[in-house]
Amino acid sequence: MQIWYKIKIIYLVFTVGTIQLGTIAHAQVKTVKNARIYRQQVNTDSLQKMIEIKTLIPKVIYDLRYATTNNFTHTKLYKSGNSTFLRLPVAQALQKVQNELNEKGYGLKIFDAYRPYAVTKKMWDLIHDDRYVADPSKGSGHNRGLAIDLTIIRLIDSRELDLGTGFDNFTDTAHHTFKNLDSTVLQNRILLKQTMEKYGFKAFETEWWHYSWPNERNYEVLDIDFKKLAKSSH
Ligand SMILES: [Zn+2]
Repeated sequence: MQIWYKIKIIYLVFTVGTIQLGTIAHAQVKTVKNARIYRQQVNTDSLQKMIEIKTLIPKVIYDLRYATTNNFTHTKLYKSGNSTFLRLPVAQALQKVQNELNEKGYGLKIFDAYRPYAVTKKMWDLIHDDRYVADPSKGSGHNRGLAIDLTIIRLIDSRELDLGTGFDNFTDTAHHTFKNLDSTVLQNRILLKQTMEKYGFKAFETEWWHYSWPNERNYEVLDIDFKKLAKSSH
């Protein structure tokens, strides 16, 4: 009896220990906070470089919502709305998307791209619901410079196409599988999805505006603000 009792204790300690270790590992995603470390990573692998999107796609339109209060948190989360970044291969793929849309009389409008980890944490503190906000314990595609939120505009008057809902609309109407929409809206969603997927982006089922790039080069979560990143990009 006593041996079984001991085994049980050992088992319990082991299980609880594992769960705790799991939780600790889960709660701490590795982040790059230091611009110097980021620069070292770029020196070893130039494809890690974070590119200010307009340096590659000068005519892309920015409507960086988190630099304003016009977002679901009603809080200004960035200091400046004039710049945003993506990893080099992601920005290059986006340039191809823009070129193809331009040929059809359309262009891209960007709501958000790179999001410093501190901003994801701020969002989490404000909303604290992983249906709407990325759980900071994992680090998101936006934190890695691999994800982008965007829509399509007409070149002729810069007006947004009708995609059925606004940005950050967290109802099922924003889902790709939601088909009870005007045929023009469905066509517009298909145009965005097909063009993005053609150049390697992956759609996100519950948000028609969110596209991501595969983390094929072990891109790490960055927590470097836009200013420091801009300085490091030259
Ligand atoms: Zn997104």
